[in-house]
Amino acid sequence: MSETPCTKCERLLQLYLDGELDKTEAGEAEIHLDTCGYCRRQYRFERAFREYLRQALAGESMSPELRVKLVALRTAAHPDDHA
Ligand SMILES: [Zn+2]
Repeated sequence: MSETPCTKCERLLQLYLDGELDKTEAGEAEIHLDTCGYCRRQYRFERAFREYLRQALAGESMSPELRVKLVALRTAAHPDDHA
């Protein structure tokens, strides 16, 4: 299994996460997420990370469930980091 990191769609993903895309572009981003495992993992991680940041900024402590999810997502998104 080989997946090419999509530098171009990473940018698209950031805009998608920020809600900066128009309807057409958001649709394209969603289709890409359906077809690209690499970007799907990035997206899941970014979304969970933003959720964590939101909680942290709101002064809430991180839920154990979210912490576990983040670690799992991070491992999935960057399998070589701990090598
Ligand atoms: Zn992609």
